[in-house]
Amino acid sequence: MSAQESVRQVVIIGSGPAGFTAAIYAARATLEPLVLGGVYWGGQLVLTSDVENYPGYPDGVLGPDMMAELRTQAERFGAEVRTIDVTRVDFRERPFVLETDEGTVRANSVIIATGASAKRMEAAGEEAMFGRGVSTCATCDGWFYRDKPIAVVGGGDSALEEALFLTRFASHITVIHRRDALRASKVLQQRAFANPKIDFRWNTVVEKVLGDERVEGLQLRDTVTGAESELPLAGVFVAVGHQPNTALFAGQIDLDAAGYIARQDGETTATNIPGVFAAGDVRDHRYRQAITAAGDGCKAAMDAERWLEAQGVAEPNLMGEIYDMPVVSS
Ligand code: NAP
Repeated sequence: MSAQESVRQVVIIGSGPAGFTAAIYAARATLEPLVLGGVYWGGQLVLTSDVENYPGYPDGVLGPDMMAELRTQAERFGAEVRTIDVTRVDFRERPFVLETDEGTVRANSVIIATGASAKRMEAAGEEAMFGRGVSTCATCDGWFYRDKPIAVVGGGDSALEEALFLTRFASHITVIHRRDALRASKVLQQRAFANPKIDFRWNTVVEKVLGDERVEGLQLRDTVTGAESELPLAGVFVAVGHQPNTALFAGQIDLDAAGYIARQDGETTATNIPGVFAAGDVRDHRYRQAITAAGDGCKAAMDAERWLEAQGVAEPNLMGEIYDMPVVSS
């Protein structure tokens, strides 16, 4: 990227469903968006396996495949996708400045779609054993646990989805949950309860990950009785939720108490900085679905286009084809 590069109308930071959907819409509005997608592009869906609830895929789709298709779709309409990290932003002046490992980009508007990342359970030994039996990605690492006993920690959709996926490999899966009721959807609960390879340890937390070179077990504590026990196993998958990827924007943009980008109103994707918009999990701790993130990306592109138009830096009605989509006949 050269220092002389012209000012972009829209730069999208992030390459999950929100980022690529924003890119599709912005590209179709001839805004020639630049997607700074990160070295590890594709967002959380590249760490997942089957996606069964995204409309339009009656047989499900693999998360990485879906992200590759979204990227192709965005590029087809002229979005430029670069798989590099943004290292610093400056939103104090316009055009906004975004530093990357390959140079500086300037933008009239920015859409933040950096998503969220898997949280740790913060047990002793967890970090030291990360990648040596502690994982946050069943799709990536499940293969290593063929015919071995493992655990999944958490009580949400991710935990049960990982546990169910891991039944393909592991000999047995213990789901460890800190309460006595799951927050996962009923359909996943039913599948997990019916699976003979899965059992549950209720009201239980992991105190320590045991092992020298690799995970050999977990030290557990019953939150009701206080009793401690050891569970021998070969691996543990941590599925205890997510935190927003907003460190890059701290001090530049308003965040809420949990670190998500603060909403300015109930309707739009505006942030407190005019011209900077946010979409997807980076601002949403309620729904956090691929489909809601994609919807947010669409809104952010439309908000950015309207804002650019109001500033006089984009031609009016570029989104006309989106608002007044002709009926397609085949
Ligand atoms: P989540 O719903 O926030 O669940 C996190 C789970 O981890 C909760 O059960 C929580 O316990 C537990 N937990 C949190 N911190 C913990 C700690 N330090 N130690 C032990 N346990 C801890 O997160 P998620 O399962 O990743 O799901 C996130 C969102 O994505 C949800 O909206 C979910 O519906 C969605 N999602 C959907 C699908 C699907 O539809 N197929 C798949 C995956 C995710 P408590 O219950 O006690 O709070």
